[in-house]
Amino acid sequence: MTATAPITQDVMTLPRKLADGPVNLIGLTRAQLAEALQAAGTPEKQVKMRANQLWQWLYQKGVRDFDEMTNLAKDYRAMLSETFTIALPEVVSKHVSEDGTRKYLVRIAGGHEVEVVYIPEEGRGTLCVSSQVGCTLTCSFCHTGTQKLVRNLTAGEIVGQIMLARDDLGEWPQPGRHPKDETRLLSNIVLMGMGEPLYNFDNVRDAMKIAMDPEGISLSRRRITLSTSGVVPEIARTAEEIGCLLAVSFHATTDEVRDKLVPINKRWNIAELLDALKAYPKLSNSERITFEYVMLKDVNDSDADASRLVKLIKGIPAKINLIPFNEWPGAPYERSDWARIKAFADIIYKAGYASPIRTPRGEDIMAACGQLKSATERARKSRKQIAAEAGLAEQ
Ligand code: SAH
Ligand code: SF4
Repeated sequence: MTATAPITQDVMTLPRKLADGPVNLIGLTRAQLAEALQAAGTPEKQVKMRANQLWQWLYQKGVRDFDEMTNLAKDYRAMLSETFTIALPEVVSKHVSEDGTRKYLVRIAGGHEVEVVYIPEEGRGTLCVSSQVGCTLTCSFCHTGTQKLVRNLTAGEIVGQIMLARDDLGEWPQPGRHPKDETRLLSNIVLMGMGEPLYNFDNVRDAMKIAMDPEGISLSRRRITLSTSGVVPEIARTAEEIGCLLAVSFHATTDEVRDKLVPINKRWNIAELLDALKAYPKLSNSERITFEYVMLKDVNDSDADASRLVKLIKGIPAKINLIPFNEWPGAPYERSDWARIKAFADIIYKAGYASPIRTPRGEDIMAACGQLKSATERARKSRKQIAAEAGLAEQ
């Protein structure tokens, strides 16, 4: 198969200021916002205060119109609206699953589309956020990986996904009222949508900083989970510069199988990945790493795999998340039988690890893990082509 080299972010990210258009305030870091306000004539002494006030209007109150920012002077508001804009990606369509899962198809600058999924659960709600249009990696079981078109999302487009979901949920806190995380409809974020977040590191970091900032969206860093396929050199940076929880798409217990399922393994193999993971909890001061493991019939689901998995992760504070394979048209794999998944989970559980089996959500609207692919890119490869690229015999 052709291992696609990661495209660097410099090439792929659209500039914040498109041509001569006004600068979008959404997604600017505190420092960038302060700089932009100063450049627009805000006296240096006031810059910090104005930036704080703006953040509160944008991220705590959900205000989109400068005229509603009543603690700013009228002429200052006029200056802001001439110089800046407050823009979110456009929601093209919304589907609601029988189980309450909501999937949004969102259009970003350039006409590209990404998907965002909201999963309501007892006492919490998780938003599955995309970090790229498509993915440069080509994991053979993942629908996003078959999408050819790729571009990094800007920080604004990543934060914008959280904001548009809050719009749809009607969840902007009232002034002076800061609901506890437990009562929020959107209480958790997982970077498990389209794309490899660690190949868009800076934008993902800036967006998550806004999500975690007490004056921003104000979610605890323990309620944000970044999932990576194993971009080893960026794992320590994730701990140091973001500090959120980490999940890793492990999916296999030998390099031979992982090379086929998660081809980035050819670049950084299981041993190198485990070394980086061992250092993560201490660096980020977080508890456990989630090992994601997709259950593929007769590929990675034997008792021997389960025992090997337990051995490999020994010494790493871990939780193993078993994901029954979510099928998509043309996929070269099948989901493991339920009895097999249970037996696998049992071995892990007996070894002392939590091994929840992830209940597929939103399958009826193709919103489950690994099924995301934008409508514009729906044209799919043939089953034969996918199998060939995965290095498998046709099934
Ligand atoms: N690119 C990142 C995050 C997005 S994928 C990563 O790979 O970790 C989120 C999770 O869904 C990953 O663990 C991924 O391996 C898994 N996944 C992808 N396709 C899937 C499918 N068809 N069925 C079940 N899980 C899948
Ligand atoms: Fe990309 Fe993750 Fe899908 Fe692999 S599983 S192709 S890294 S989105």
